[in-house]
Amino acid sequence: PSTPPYRGRFAPSPTGLLHAGSLVAALASWLDARAHGGQWLVRIEDHDLGRCLPGAGEQILAQLARVGLVPDEPPVWQSQRGTLYEAALQRLIEAGWAYGCTCSRKDIAAAVAAAGGQRERHGELVYPGTCRPSRGGLQGRPARAWRLLSTDDLAGTQDLMLAWRDRRLGLQTQTLNVEVGDFVLRRADGLWAYQLAVVVDDAAQGISDVVRGEDLADNTPRQLRLQQLLGLPVPRYLHTPLVLAADGQKLSKQNGATPLPLDEPLQALRLAGERLGLRIEAGTVADWLAAAVAAWAAGPLMA
Ligand code: GLU
Repeated sequence: PSTPPYRGRFAPSPTGLLHAGSLVAALASWLDARAHGGQWLVRIEDHDLGRCLPGAGEQILAQLARVGLVPDEPPVWQSQRGTLYEAALQRLIEAGWAYGCTCSRKDIAAAVAAAGGQRERHGELVYPGTCRPSRGGLQGRPARAWRLLSTDDLAGTQDLMLAWRDRRLGLQTQTLNVEVGDFVLRRADGLWAYQLAVVVDDAAQGISDVVRGEDLADNTPRQLRLQQLLGLPVPRYLHTPLVLAADGQKLSKQNGATPLPLDEPLQALRLAGERLGLRIEAGTVADWLAAAVAAWAAGPLMA
């Protein structure tokens, strides 16, 4: 089979402006697309409008343009794509993989405590499966949220181990039902979960290569599972190094990530490039980017 054309993307959530950390992911995805002679798209992940900063999507596009990163197609906005996510959810429900859940956070905490307590790595409770169809389902109660069954079988008994080879991190594995559990596809407040939206959109946009920050790496198995169940192609994955704040935490608005200043684009590119192992001096943004593409194309991450 012929390999699909290279199509990459940067998919920021407009909960804030572009900062030094998110520029690394944006730059890496752009460089990788250009070095492969491919296309580079931007998708504004504003499906959770409540958490979005008004105008941030437009400002991120302006910040990207200032450092010379201009998408090859008009940006896609997730807030306008609910019907696609709905169709995917319906398919998963019909196949028996998605199920309605009535549990509140309190219900989940109580059930987990009763079962002896088990936690996900990021402090989120692993859903104990109370509303699973194999346990009797909703029995007439209305669904609040929709979840994906995380086992290998519809009966909910078989472990599901997922593996992928990340271009930078190498072989990665996760036992989905143990480490993550039945995860939410649509929340009780009606909002779409990132996992479902990103999988539907990456497929709809023909994305061949996902290049994004390493903080998202352990979301990949959830996305692989959704791709399997929806019969969607699996992109290649490259997770880029994070920029850490002084406190060692991921750079975020809470610990002082300042929006990228628009007046020093070359300096911003230099810093982001260094995080990617590129030391490039150039007099203009265009020259810097051209040299960076050449360096990336010669570098270790190119397949
Ligand atoms: N919107 C996500 C974020 O900004 C990234 C999605 C992705 O690259 O898969 O954290």
